[in-house]
Amino acid sequence: MGYQKQALNRDRILGPTAPRKRFLSNTSSESQSSNRKDVVSELHPLTNQSDNIRLLDYELQVKRRFDEIVPLLKRISALQHHNDFIPQAQQLAKSVLGFELPQYILEKAWVRPLDMRALFAWCVFQAHQYSSNQFFNSDPLHGSEKTQPANDFQTFLSQCGFHLLDVTPCSDGRLAHSIAYVLRIPFSTVRRRSHAGALFDVENTVNRWIKTEHSRYRHGNPNSPNDDTRYLKVVVYHFSSLSPSHQGCAAHGSDDSKAAEAGYQRLLDFRESIEKSFCCGASVDLLLIGLDTDTDAIRVHVPDSNSHIDLKKWVSAMEIYEGTRNLTYKDSIEFIEQKIDEKSPGKTQKGIVAFITKIIVNNISQIDYVRQAHNGAYPDAGHSERFIGVGIGFKEVHLRNLTYFSHLDTVEEGSPDLDVGIKIFKGLNVSRDLPIPVVIRFDYSGKVPGAKARAIADCKRVNNAISIRYKELVNDGLLHTCLTVRDRDKKGSAEIVGSSLDPAIKEEH
Ligand SMILES: [Zn+2]
Repeated sequence: MGYQKQALNRDRILGPTAPRKRFLSNTSSESQSSNRKDVVSELHPLTNQSDNIRLLDYELQVKRRFDEIVPLLKRISALQHHNDFIPQAQQLAKSVLGFELPQYILEKAWVRPLDMRALFAWCVFQAHQYSSNQFFNSDPLHGSEKTQPANDFQTFLSQCGFHLLDVTPCSDGRLAHSIAYVLRIPFSTVRRRSHAGALFDVENTVNRWIKTEHSRYRHGNPNSPNDDTRYLKVVVYHFSSLSPSHQGCAAHGSDDSKAAEAGYQRLLDFRESIEKSFCCGASVDLLLIGLDTDTDAIRVHVPDSNSHIDLKKWVSAMEIYEGTRNLTYKDSIEFIEQKIDEKSPGKTQKGIVAFITKIIVNNISQIDYVRQAHNGAYPDAGHSERFIGVGIGFKEVHLRNLTYFSHLDTVEEGSPDLDVGIKIFKGLNVSRDLPIPVVIRFDYSGKVPGAKARAIADCKRVNNAISIRYKELVNDGLLHTCLTVRDRDKKGSAEIVGSSLDPAIKEEH
C-alpha cells in the first residue's frame, strides 16, 4: 500500500538516481551533487540529514516487510490449483518476504480453499519476528545501552537535573515513534509505556519511582542520591492540525484541550502521590507535550519551577522551525530559549529549559523528515497499524503506525485499551476479511528464578482471556495470536513460545 509511495519519497531525499552510498560519501557525480544541493537547500540548518536518511531507510525496510504480504498472498492464491503449487508458493514467499510459508496450511490447498487468513496472520508474525531480531542484533536506531549516543544523552539528562526520563505517549500507533523519531532520544535512556489517551497508571508509576530511588540509594544507579536530581515524568498527548475533529485522540473524542487537560491531571496526581507518600521533600518534575500526528511537530507546555502548566500556552516547534530558518546555530538556540522564557518569564528551571530546547532542536529534524518523505504531512492521517501488541515489553517497536499498544498485565485490567485496538482493527483488517494479528509479549528478568516460566504462563493466560473476550472473531479465524517472551536483562530478541496458528491448536477451531 503506502510502500511504493514512500519509496518514491525516499527518492526525494536521496535524489532519484543517486545511490545512497555515493550520496552519503560525498563522492557523487556532478548531477548527483546538484541533487544534493537542491535537497540540502530545502533543509532547516538544524536538521540532521544523515540521521534522517538512516531513519527513513529503517522505516521503509521494516514496513515493506509487512506491506508486501497482501500482494504476495494474492499471487499465491492464484496459484493454488497448479500442480506444483507448494514449491512455487514457497519459492515466491522466500524471494519476496525472505521466509517460507507453513507447509501444513499449503498442503490442504487441494481439498479446501487455501486458508488465506491464517497465512496472512502467519506472515505478519514472521515479519514482526524478523524485525525484532534485526532490532536487537544490529541496533538500527543507534539507541541501545552503553553506546555513545545513549551515554551522551544520559549525561545531558543529569546535567539538566534529571536521573530518569519516563515518557507516556498515547497508545495510538501514530505515536509509536515518539521517542526515536519525534524526540530523537536514544530509546535505552527512556522508560516508555504507552496508554490509551496517555493516561498512565499512577500506582505503577509510583512503584517505578520507588524502584528508581531504591536503585540510587543501593547502587548509586543511575546516580547518587546525594545528587540533586529528579525523576522527570512526561506525557505526550496528540492532535491533528489538518483534521482536528476527526483524527485527534479517540480516547478524548478528538478534543485536544481535553487530551491536554487529562494528561496534565494525571501528571499532577502522580506528583501528589509521591509528595504525600514520601517525606524529605520527595517530588518529581512534570512535562506535557502535544504531538501533531500530521506533521510530527511538537508543542511543549512550559512548566514553571513548581511544574505548574498553563494549558493554553505552549512553545510550537513548527513556529520555531519557521522562525529560525535563516539563523545560525547559536542564534537559533537563543531564539528557542527566548520563546520558552516568554511562556513563563524567569520562572522555569534552567535544566528544563535546556531539555525543552534539546527536544525542539531534535524535533526540527523530524519536521524535515516528514516534509521530505511525505510532502509535509503523512498520507496515512488515521490509523494504519499492522498489528496489536499486548502485554509488557515491545522495546523494539519504534515506528509510526506499526503497532497499536495495549500494555497490560491482565485482559480484565487492560480491556478498555484492548477494546479500542480491536475496534480499530475491525476497520483496518476485518472489513477486508483479514484477521487481526495480536502479538502477546511478556518480558521477564532472566536473573529471577522461574521468571521465564511465569512470563510464558502470563502469555497463555492473556491468550486465553483474549479467546474468551473476542470469541466470535477467534472462531471465524479473524483474530490470531502469537505468544512471545523476552529476557530484558539480555540483548537478545524475543522468543516465540506459541501461536493460535500452531497445527494442534488450529484444528480445535
Ligand atoms: Zn490517543
